[in-house]
Amino acid sequence: MTPTGSSKTAITSLAAVRAAIARACRDAGRGVADVTLVAVSKTFSAEAIEPAIADGQRVFGENRVQEAKSKWPPLLEKHSGLALHLIGPLQSNKAKEAVALFTAIHSVDRASLCEALAKEIAKQKRQPILFAEINTGAEAQKAGVLPQDADSFLTACRETYGLAMSGLMCIPPLDEAPGPHFALTAKIARRNGLKLLSMGMSADFAVAISLGATHVRVGSAIFGGRSTEKSALT
Ligand SMILES: *Cc1c(COP(=O)(O)O)cnc(C)c1O
Repeated sequence: MTPTGSSKTAITSLAAVRAAIARACRDAGRGVADVTLVAVSKTFSAEAIEPAIADGQRVFGENRVQEAKSKWPPLLEKHSGLALHLIGPLQSNKAKEAVALFTAIHSVDRASLCEALAKEIAKQKRQPILFAEINTGAEAQKAGVLPQDADSFLTACRETYGLAMSGLMCIPPLDEAPGPHFALTAKIARRNGLKLLSMGMSADFAVAISLGATHVRVGSAIFGGRSTEKSALT
């Protein structure tokens, strides 16, 4: 599949996103090294991803285990130092594959998944960076823990399942200003002693950086528009 909706190449767009991140960091009085750009490559083919790797991008985000599994192993073999982040919902029965493939999982949101992850982490002796997803807008169709349940969920992650949680992730409602959602996520992270914040996408990563994001998940601003959210490989 080729990117649609953009005449820019991934490389010029990547440079523009990097510059915008640097600007947002400067405006917020933060160091640019404190913000990791997760280049969201879902729906894009290996050929579309290669130029970004050649340009030095090392952290990539995918939202489906199956798609990542069919697309990334050859790329991971060919290029050193790549890190794959799972940013989409994870079914418990795919925990094994997810722990094997991903450096970070941004979507920890329920006890059954915690249990499955804990088992695989122990078995595979791998330690992915774990983010709990907070459904800050309390949207029925969205995954994530409700804000009022976040503290008890995080306690259970640690105490019941022994998971080393590192941060929080949120996806604000499409039709609302993202700032308050980022601020709420940052506040929950602070009171739970979590250092990482996965927040901000193509449209709002600068706002997210001003509110403390350590990981911005940027797709279309780098790779162009997606013709479909479905896998390009199925
Ligand atoms: C697709 C996706 C992104 C990237 O969205 P863009 O608007 O293309 O930057 C970020 N986070 C999640 C969870 C996604 O599914």
